[in-house]
Amino acid sequence: MQQSEHDLLAFDRQHLWHPYTSMTAPLPVHLAVSASGVRLRLADGRELIDGMSSWWAAIHGYSHPVLNAALRDQAEKMAHVMFGGLTHEPAIELCQLLLDIVPAGLDKVFLCDSGSVSVEVAMKMALQYQQARGLPEKNRFLTVRGGYHGDTFHAMSVCDPVTGMHSLFSRALPKQFFAPRPQCRFNAEWQPEDIAELAALLNAHHSEIAAVIIEPIVQGAGGMWFYHPQYLRQLRQLCDQHDALLIFDEIATGFGRTGKMFAAEHAGVSPDILCLGKALTGGCMTLAAALCTDSVARAICQGEPGLFMHGPTFMANPLACAVAAASIKLLLQTGWQEKIHAIEAQLRQELEPARNLDGVADVRVLGAIGVIEMRQPVDMAALQQFFIAQGVWIRPFGRLLYLMPPYIIKPAELTALTQAALQAASS
Ligand code: PMP
Repeated sequence: MQQSEHDLLAFDRQHLWHPYTSMTAPLPVHLAVSASGVRLRLADGRELIDGMSSWWAAIHGYSHPVLNAALRDQAEKMAHVMFGGLTHEPAIELCQLLLDIVPAGLDKVFLCDSGSVSVEVAMKMALQYQQARGLPEKNRFLTVRGGYHGDTFHAMSVCDPVTGMHSLFSRALPKQFFAPRPQCRFNAEWQPEDIAELAALLNAHHSEIAAVIIEPIVQGAGGMWFYHPQYLRQLRQLCDQHDALLIFDEIATGFGRTGKMFAAEHAGVSPDILCLGKALTGGCMTLAAALCTDSVARAICQGEPGLFMHGPTFMANPLACAVAAASIKLLLQTGWQEKIHAIEAQLRQELEPARNLDGVADVRVLGAIGVIEMRQPVDMAALQQFFIAQGVWIRPFGRLLYLMPPYIIKPAELTALTQAALQAASS
């Protein structure tokens, strides 16, 4: 390293924003120098077992030789080329792979830069769709409380109104409709009244509602909450009945995390528009996608101005597409479902004792997601230090200690994560 760790961190502290941080009183950050498999290496030589998959993304772990080779090969050929007037094999191959695995009916793919942008694209698709059908008054969105869809403006407008940024930006945010958070748990007996308020809202306001947007089965950053698949089946029917499109945001849940390739499969329903991101590239590059059905695309293109009005500079970046195609092939070749089921069983068994701890409100596991919900908010800075001392990388938020490891994690490594989480929960 040319510059000392101290100098690098001093510059960082002075000049680099990190996610959701103060520039005047930043929390400590650690200097990562490399990562491979499930291990992150810090500048001081410490190695940490990764429990976060870098926010749902690094499903195959880090520095995977197959993904690295895909990046290197594509970099030799063409790192980037504009997507206006040109196309390329990495994008085509990626979309061939995607259309084979996404829920039935999705047929057109818009490749874009990040999860939030794919949410903006999905919402614009819904608005153009309704406008093209002569229903311009259908220009608002309905969602549920407890959701998270990203940090850009329309995405923020459908994030949870309390924990999201509504009060801060309320003057600039479009006003949407909010139904209560689905209450009925994933494995519980279905309670039909769970969806009653959403049904009533749609009934009362369908003439203004372009689409319903929701994270299927798992609400991620809005609380790591798992709800009943029947909610989605009924939501599909309600949307059809009230001529509203259904948008599933699978940016966090996509590519196996919940035990199905896509969380929508737990309910056996397909959305009209699907957002993907995060694990799409196996966590190597930023890339996202908004997919829609043929009928949505047709309607958009039959209306004015006959085009879908979006086109980012780095749309379908070939490096990102090549590594995404390699990541999907790797996932399909490596028995992902058995791996997730094994992780799920181990998380269930090893996190269960947390239920008896005084400070713990709930323990829940679905697929490769394990959650210990505390009664009180945790001290993130102190816990981060504690976890690093234990040799693990776990980053809690709010009242949640959660694990979502790379799928390649070995049982002993997963035990190191669960034991550290249990210890943190009991302290
Ligand atoms: N939707 C969901 C469900 C997410 O979890 C996230 C990111 N946490 C986003 C959208 C936004 O994605 P990005 O951070 O890539 O913009």
